[in-house]
Amino acid sequence: MQDNTYRSTGTFSPAGVGIGLALAVIAMFPIAFLYSYAVRYIPFIYINFLISFGAVFAVAYIYTFGESLGRNRSRVASLAAMLLAGVLTLFVFWVTFLYVLSERRLEYVKMLTDPAYVIDLIKELINVGWFTLKRNRVKGTFYGIMLAVEAVVYIGIFVFVWWTALKSRVFCEKCQKWVVRESVAMFFDLAPLEAIATSLATGTDAWVDALFLAQSTPSLRVELASCAHCNELHVLTLVHSQDVVDKDGNPSTEEKNLLENVLISTATAARFQARVAQLQADFAAGN
Ligand SMILES: [Zn+2]
Repeated sequence: MQDNTYRSTGTFSPAGVGIGLALAVIAMFPIAFLYSYAVRYIPFIYINFLISFGAVFAVAYIYTFGESLGRNRSRVASLAAMLLAGVLTLFVFWVTFLYVLSERRLEYVKMLTDPAYVIDLIKELINVGWFTLKRNRVKGTFYGIMLAVEAVVYIGIFVFVWWTALKSRVFCEKCQKWVVRESVAMFFDLAPLEAIATSLATGTDAWVDALFLAQSTPSLRVELASCAHCNELHVLTLVHSQDVVDKDGNPSTEEKNLLENVLISTATAARFQARVAQLQADFAAGN
């Protein structure tokens, strides 16, 4: 069987990692101050955790934005840079938080340039604590464990964003551009799935004619990434989509990729687009 799956070249771009890290470091400081003042003055510990995780997500997404600008496709370089950005974020958040907690009496630049000093300050803070939970001051081993868990979550957020936000992107090497993956605003009948999958796997166009509007759930959703610049790269993904209602009556949609990143020709992509237009017209006409 021919291999017609799109795969990233994995090309490493120093500019991508460089811009990502630069933007993350620039953004880290204002976000660290917002986070620190919020955590210091909002007396609800659970809200504080949510704020801190939101702040870490923000830095992680800013990194990915910069990395995209610089067109890095290397997953390994991306992970290494994001782990570094995660550790830096943790450190800058700590320094800024200690600075805010000390009512700006600690020296900010000294802390930034002396990690050993910061670690000593954190140890001291763990010994005395600074906030209460259920009327008890949180300190000692319990507080230490809490901070360790928080640190692991921070790094985990960077790994999560690396895994999700950067995983499934399509890059046109010819045009040196990212290609947006668009969902076709239509649900297709799942019954001919086997015929569709076989046709796609063998590189024929028969699958296009096997697409009909779905009458019920579960159904088939199609995502297509087409390079608008050269119109030569077309990557198709088939998604199994099912509307479900949980025991409380809340509706949601469960989705699972059936076939990922199948390369199709420009002619096939055009046939598919024509088929979608035809089904839309039929639907509008009441058939
Ligand atoms: Zn292109």
